[in-house]
Amino acid sequence: MKKVLTDSHHRTIDYLRISITDHCNLRCVYCVTDTVKWVPHEEILRFEEIARIVRVFVDEGIRKIRITGGEPLMRHGLPEFIAQISHLDGLEDLSLTTNGVFLQQMAGKLRQAGLTRINVSLDTLHPERYARITGWDLFHQVWAGIQEARRVGLSPVKINVVAMMGYNEDEILDFARLTLEEPYVVRFIEYMPVNEKWNDDNFLSVDRIREKIAVTYSLVPINGTRNNGPARVFQIPGAKGEIGLISPLSNHFCGTCNRLRLTADGHLRPCLFSDTEIDLKTPLRNGGGEAALRDLLRETLRLKPERHHLQNISAPKCHRGMWSIGG
Ligand code: SAM
Repeated sequence: MKKVLTDSHHRTIDYLRISITDHCNLRCVYCVTDTVKWVPHEEILRFEEIARIVRVFVDEGIRKIRITGGEPLMRHGLPEFIAQISHLDGLEDLSLTTNGVFLQQMAGKLRQAGLTRINVSLDTLHPERYARITGWDLFHQVWAGIQEARRVGLSPVKINVVAMMGYNEDEILDFARLTLEEPYVVRFIEYMPVNEKWNDDNFLSVDRIREKIAVTYSLVPINGTRNNGPARVFQIPGAKGEIGLISPLSNHFCGTCNRLRLTADGHLRPCLFSDTEIDLKTPLRNGGGEAALRDLLRETLRLKPERHHLQNISAPKCHRGMWSIGG
């Protein structure tokens, strides 16, 4: 019989997000800080260590895994790692979040290794703005990567847009229009107060986003679509794609939170917005076996808080940046 993991607030926990590197090749205005200190190479979990954790966790009840970072496509050996875990008995969904910079050359290899779907972060459709937001003039490369992902059959291709006043609030409709002719899933995500780069003047709520779209298009709610996580999903009538709205701040979804996060340096976080972490790497490297990993998993579940307290948005919430936690 399949095992089910629950936390102390009776939530089923079946989703693990794994940051495989904290390094990133972009410098998005809201993310990596100037004072960033990358984790030294030897402190990053090796793929075989991550695979050991994954095997135990899937056996315990994790059904869904997302690979993230930092920028996961920067790490050598990623397709081989995906091939190692993609066919694990009990794992029902494997996905990956990337900035897409290396996607054009990697999409086919990822698909072959067993990845079926992908999320690409893209906050603007204007090349010059892309350079302003990310620090690099790479819009066309990312767009080519998105098209290649579709060509090799990764499906759906979700486009993650962090919506921000002062950066892309005037592009909401353009992003929504992307779903009309092609089966993209465009997901607008509220900007979150993670680190000292936070500026609440840039905050744009999903309600405002919805209003902006509703001026031109009606949005029909879609229920029961698989793998939408906390997104509320809509479709413009007749559109091939979908629109997701993710509102960690204005309408938190902690009551249905099903996730844990494994940082690149081997710490298990029960909540994105709590600095509580359980060290898996030290016991793993000191000879701790499967039993130790199972105990640490249960301890993390016990510590998972009932909810975050992000609504007080005046101050950033995490000791680590998003690149380090694995957004
Ligand atoms: N490098 C990959 C990428 O760009 O998708 C994966 C890691 S990145 C940290 C994951 C996601 O976190 C990206 O979609 C990014 O836009 C988002 N992100 C980072 N900081 C954020 C913040 N303060 N608020 C909302 N989203 C944020």
